Amino acid sequence: MSDTESTTASTPEPAKSPWPVIPPPPPPRFCPQCATALATRSIEGRPRLACPDPTCEWVFWDNPVPVVAAVLEHEGAVILARNVLWPEGRFGLITGFLERGESPQEGIVREVREETGLQGEVVALIGTYPFHLKNQIVIAFHVIGRGTVALGDELADYRRIPPERLQPWPSATGEAVRDWLAQRTSNAAAGPASPLNLGCHLSIAKGLPAMYDQALQVGATCAQIFTRNPRGGARRSIDDAELAQAATRRAAAGVKTVIAHIPYTVNPASPRQNALDFARMVLREDLRHADRLDAQFVVFHPGSHVDSGVQAGTRRIVETIRHALDDYDGQAMLLLEGMSGGGSEIGGSPQELRAILDGLDGDPRVGVCLDSCHLFAAGWDLRTRDGIDRCLRAFDQAVGLDRIRCLHLNDCKSALGSHKDRHAKIGQGELGEEGIRQVVTHPFFATLPLCLETPVDDWPEYEAEIAAVRRLAEPS
Ligand SMILES: [Zn+2]
Ligand SMILES: [Zn+2]
Ligand SMILES: [Zn+2]
Repeated sequence: MSDTESTTASTPEPAKSPWPVIPPPPPPRFCPQCATALATRSIEGRPRLACPDPTCEWVFWDNPVPVVAAVLEHEGAVILARNVLWPEGRFGLITGFLERGESPQEGIVREVREETGLQGEVVALIGTYPFHLKNQIVIAFHVIGRGTVALGDELADYRRIPPERLQPWPSATGEAVRDWLAQRTSNAAAGPASPLNLGCHLSIAKGLPAMYDQALQVGATCAQIFTRNPRGGARRSIDDAELAQAATRRAAAGVKTVIAHIPYTVNPASPRQNALDFARMVLREDLRHADRLDAQFVVFHPGSHVDSGVQAGTRRIVETIRHALDDYDGQAMLLLEGMSGGGSEIGGSPQELRAILDGLDGDPRVGVCLDSCHLFAAGWDLRTRDGIDRCLRAFDQAVGLDRIRCLHLNDCKSALGSHKDRHAKIGQGELGEEGIRQVVTHPFFATLPLCLETPVDDWPEYEAEIAAVRRLAEPS
């Protein structure tokens, strides 16, 4: 915090008395180059303090000093802090001076960390504000803070003010708050950023066109289908006439994303030769089939090593994928599904997924599909924003967020960290409505295609589930 910064927060109660005005630092009296006493002299028509020694001619230009400031949002509230030097009851933004070589963005993230213990992310520049009184220029950012607040040495106290109750105060940082509030209101008036791309798993037993009709009826803009019979392993053939009809119905239904899912029984990590050969054949053929159906993604479970060890299983998965992608030039992308990590299942951690991608030398035709039930059962607590951020940080480090291309949105019957893969209907599991709300309002997840795989008795029930999720996604 810049210790001379004089901001005042009139929230939650309006300020009653004017704050003491802290004067700017006094001008220098002696030349820093030759120690001669400075004198006022007219330079380019303005009076300046300057060194009278003709061999020195040092000038005190008195340029404004940049100060970085943060409107720091943490769990929906703005954090205002009280510097140890400030009187009781006075709160302001997090502010500070830049270190040498630091960009303003880096500087404010460092100040936020040092003063509040939060990991800050700069969302936007709010503006720059001259602060003539102290000869400063305030560069104000909107920063989102994550983690738990732990005050640094410079702060005595802090307050969490809901944005609705935040009131600007008359100073440079107060102007930044005013502008941030105005930007916030105009963003809200523009409506929700974009509606969720949300849908569900549907059957193609009655044909692909009928599946799109169902998607339309339940309000799905994203649809998942099995590439073949999930139990028997046989595949329906789809002729060109059906494909053309499907394309028309898809456009009418407004289905943006189609995900093809390889049956669960297919095990690309199997130590049994028969099972492995079958998996190699299915992945290779179904990828091409899905591409023909205009599915963007082909999701499959990495599989179980049974009792042959994760490394051997991972090697077989890598081999199976290589075989599938050999001479493939379609548009559909293979996605490894993140699992709950039960038994000898591979893919229950970001590291296990990464090992597979590493084995493929980061082939860009392979990505990752996450599943909220699997994540929760694997031990990621998605019920809070911080929990989701922790989870996504781990996946970002291991595989990169850009590889994560869709999310199976399921509630979870089993407990956090239980490693049991048991999907529940939305709001009826351990995630609950609040957990699902956190997931679908998270800025990363909200941009992904979201696909329900909840245990409905019949597909028309998805209409209510999809509507419920859309309601949860609305700003409260
Ligand atoms: Zn799956
Ligand atoms: Zn899933
Ligand atoms: Zn599952």
